[in-house]
Amino acid sequence: MNTHNGVPRIQSSHGSNTVDGVVRWDPAKSAWFSGMALVAILWGPITLQWDSFAIFLISSGMTLCLGHSLGMHRRLIHGSYACHPGLEYFLVYCGVLVGMAGPIGMVRTHDMRDWAQRQPRCHAYFSHGQDFWRDAWWQLHCELQLTHSPQFAPEARIANDRFYAWLERTWRWQQLPLALGLWLAGGWAWVVWGVCVRVCVSLTGHWLVGHFAHRQGHQTYVVDGAGVQGHNVGLGGLNGLLTMGECWHNNHHAFPGSACLGLEPGQPDPGWWVLRCLQRIGCVWDLRLPADLPNRPQVRRLQDTLSAKAIYER
Ligand SMILES: [Zn+2]
Ligand SMILES: [Zn+2]
Repeated sequence: MNTHNGVPRIQSSHGSNTVDGVVRWDPAKSAWFSGMALVAILWGPITLQWDSFAIFLISSGMTLCLGHSLGMHRRLIHGSYACHPGLEYFLVYCGVLVGMAGPIGMVRTHDMRDWAQRQPRCHAYFSHGQDFWRDAWWQLHCELQLTHSPQFAPEARIANDRFYAWLERTWRWQQLPLALGLWLAGGWAWVVWGVCVRVCVSLTGHWLVGHFAHRQGHQTYVVDGAGVQGHNVGLGGLNGLLTMGECWHNNHHAFPGSACLGLEPGQPDPGWWVLRCLQRIGCVWDLRLPADLPNRPQVRRLQDTLSAKAIYER
């Protein structure tokens, strides 16, 4: 019997489970993060100027918002809106520049975790169930090898795409053209802040959001039967701006296919704002909201505010 538990790319059978496995040090992942962190720590302070810091802010904003949130997460993984293939390539390329994974690796990592968290029990690697420092070590330097892993079967549109296959093989090298451009325009200071500090901060920030968003924080919804719940970690809205809306993770567990993550008032969602602008000029369309998604009976609302209800029933 095959069951994907609402994550169609994951094909699990009776034999596969989310609990048994070992966390092993991943040399390539560890060297990549450590190398970026080392350059950031050694050369970041001595190359800090207003212009290099501005380059860091601009490149981080573009890669995290357009790339990670809109390209990889809301479009490639969840298909929460539609756009021209050329725009999708551009956004996914920006997502590769975050320095986390290639497009297919990104979808696989996301979907495996999503699938595991929907089971009654899963390995602490998936649930961020270990203490702060051990979870940092696991997520930034290690990989989980499940003893009985399910199959990852991406749809043909992604699996057979030659551009995505090329990006998957070369994703770390994609920092080079950007680094060269930055070096020509502003010298080594721009390379240190526009590549190394940015990649180090983005990977650390991504882990931090994942760590806290699965452990503590505000909940509007509960997914019955799921061993791991999502939490909104907004820090008064500031985190919504810093994470491009990705911190509203309780909403995301309830409505993974929604293009809008900040569903309630006081939940800023810059990714959604950009999508609405792109929609206005005709670049994206078919933006899906919770009301457009198939009903999931296991999703239960804990509090009912009028405004959230208005969004839900729009
Ligand atoms: Zn989650
Ligand atoms: Zn997701």
